Amino acid sequence: MLFLDFDGTLSPIVKNPEEAVIKDKVKGWLKRLSEDKNNKIAIVTGRSLKDIIKKVGLKDVIYASNHGMEVYYGGRFLLRKATDIRRPLKRLERELTIKLSGIPDIFIENKGLSLAVHLRRVENQYHKEVKRIVNITVESWLKRYKLQLTGGKMLIEVRPLSWDKGKAVLWIWKRLAPKHLPVYVGDDVTDEDAFSALKPYGITIRIGRWRKSNAEYSVSSIEKLMAEMTLKPRTLPSARLSPPASLWPILTPLSEE
Ligand SMILES: [Mg+2]
Repeated sequence: MLFLDFDGTLSPIVKNPEEAVIKDKVKGWLKRLSEDKNNKIAIVTGRSLKDIIKKVGLKDVIYASNHGMEVYYGGRFLLRKATDIRRPLKRLERELTIKLSGIPDIFIENKGLSLAVHLRRVENQYHKEVKRIVNITVESWLKRYKLQLTGGKMLIEVRPLSWDKGKAVLWIWKRLAPKHLPVYVGDDVTDEDAFSALKPYGITIRIGRWRKSNAEYSVSSIEKLMAEMTLKPRTLPSARLSPPASLWPILTPLSEE
C-alpha cells in the first residue's frame, strides 16, 4: 500500500500551484503500480478533489484530498469529514479577501473543506504582513469553529482541527489494505502527521532531508525511489518492518544525520 503526497513529491514545486504537473515518467510508473491488483495506491494531498483528479487523472487510485478529509475511490466517496465547515469557510474567505486586498498577487483558494492563502507569487517583502493579517483575522474563528492554522511550502492554510493526513492514512490503510505494508512518501509539514502515524507499522520516507522530520528515511527525489521500487505485495509479518533490501542503498536513515 503506497501513500504519496502530490506537490513536492510527485510533482516539482512550481511558482503557480495551477501549473504543477506530474512528469509522464512518474505518471507511467504510478499507472503500472495501480493496475497491478496486488497494490493499492493512495494520493494524499491538501488539494481539492476536483483539482487532484485533474492533475493525476488515473482511475485505479485512491484520492485523499483536502488533507484526507475526502477519500474518493472507484467513483464514489468512502469518507467525507467536516462537511459542516463549508459555510463558515466561505464567510472567512470573503473576510480574508477584503483584508488581504492590498497585497499584490495574493491568491486565496477555497477548497471547500480548507482555505489556502498562497504566497508563491507574492513578493518576499509582503510575506510577513500577509502572515500578520491572516493571524489576526483568523484568530476568533479558530476556537469558534475548531479550526487550525498551518503552514506549508509558501502557503498558509486554515482547516479543521479534527482531521489530518495521519488520521486519513490510518483510516485508509485499515479499511482498504490492512494486511499490506504501508509506505508513505511526502515532503512537507502536513506529511509529518502521516509519518508519525505510519512509522510504527511501515516505511516512512521524506523527499529531501530535514533533521526534525518524523519520517524514518529520506530520499532525494521520487525518480530515485521509482527506479528501485517495484512494490511487490508484502504482507505484515510483524509490527515493525524494514525496507526491502533493494531500497537500502538509496534511503538515508534520518536518525543518523
Ligand atoms: Mg508536498
